[in-house]
Amino acid sequence: MSAMVGLNIVIAAILGFLALLCAVASLALRRNEPLAWLAAALGVGTTQTLIVTFAPGTPLEFISAMVMAPLGFWLANCAIHAMMSEKRWRRAFNLAFAGLCAIALALFTVGAPFFYQVLFVQLACCLAMIDAGLRIVSRLRWRVLDISLLISVCLLALLRIARLPLLVWYFGPGIEFTGFNGSSMELAMLAGESFLTLGIITLVISAIIADTIETFRLQSERDGLTGLLNRRAFDALAGVTAARGGAVIFCDIDHFKQVNDRFGHQVGDEVICAFASVMARTGYQAGRIGGEEFALLLPGMFMQEALDVAEMIRTRFHAGGDIPEMPAGTRVSASFGVAGFAGGTPPSSAFDRADAALYRAKHEGRNRVCADLDGSGHYGAKDLLTA
Ligand code: GH3
Ligand code: MG
Ligand code: MG
Repeated sequence: MSAMVGLNIVIAAILGFLALLCAVASLALRRNEPLAWLAAALGVGTTQTLIVTFAPGTPLEFISAMVMAPLGFWLANCAIHAMMSEKRWRRAFNLAFAGLCAIALALFTVGAPFFYQVLFVQLACCLAMIDAGLRIVSRLRWRVLDISLLISVCLLALLRIARLPLLVWYFGPGIEFTGFNGSSMELAMLAGESFLTLGIITLVISAIIADTIETFRLQSERDGLTGLLNRRAFDALAGVTAARGGAVIFCDIDHFKQVNDRFGHQVGDEVICAFASVMARTGYQAGRIGGEEFALLLPGMFMQEALDVAEMIRTRFHAGGDIPEMPAGTRVSASFGVAGFAGGTPPSSAFDRADAALYRAKHEGRNRVCADLDGSGHYGAKDLLTA
């Protein structure tokens, strides 16, 4: 067995293994789309490598070069598309790609010179990489992974497009498949391409893994309805000892059960989201710690400032009539409890006191802010649900 055959078998084994890995990972992640496309691309790459190894110089090898190469490039393009969640110009790209392949097929059917047949296949492969590069640029996150992927994809496109002029320069314009196939020039270019392809595959897999971990991390930290921190993430954040003191605000939407009963659960959800968005707009760490209960961390903030923030949220929420499903003029309110924590203690040390202040705000008539001071610190007071 020659060294070349041995090397090809190793490459086919690596590609096949990666294809299997991607397919299993895609299924395990409930049909992760980019990994599924990548598994298909790697499957095509494995088959093509096996054909090149075991059927050299045969029509099968020619067909594999003309059909499998563009198919592999198209599948890799689909993987990058799916990874970037970028659907714009998809149809235009597919049409242009199919058009170039159709021209190559037509030229092959009429027996046009090999150079022209292969020219359009190369252009299609090149187009797949240029398009993939544009997708990466349109969603560039300036991570080392994305930049490296962009550079590799551009280099691969360049290598594909430079291939033909180089081969013509090397063999002359009458170049035939049997002439260049297996030549040292072609082998050198294929080696460069394999190297880049393996690099791209590694980068795509790494980027997919990084994105998947990030998605799961966000999902495990965020509340699904409002996007605020969930209870667990909020507690973890509040459990860390703060060098400087600060304040925490606990809040609860008033008579929320009535909202659900009168307007339905769907509208109830809208009200929860409206409240969450007022909280989020403060720019501080906000969490949804129960059904219609929320909390805000205000590190480094004095009690008076924290009370002002709570009052601002209260008035904005009470004034904001932007819940389309509710009858015009319907107002919803919320109650607030504010407590401070000292430097060198965690914000969670103020939770019980903020909760007690909130309880007082409810007890004293709702739609107000109560402070953990001396029982007199309340702000605002108006009606709850007035239609
Ligand atoms: P109070 O002013 O004393 O806070 O009264 P309330 O009606 O707001 O409080 P209560 O605890 O009696 O009711 C809270 C309701 O919130 C009960 C529950 O069905 C509803 N709820 C909890 N989570 C959700 C949710 O995610 N969506 C909706 N629509 N309702 C929810
Ligand atoms: Mg409530
Ligand atoms: Mg409640």
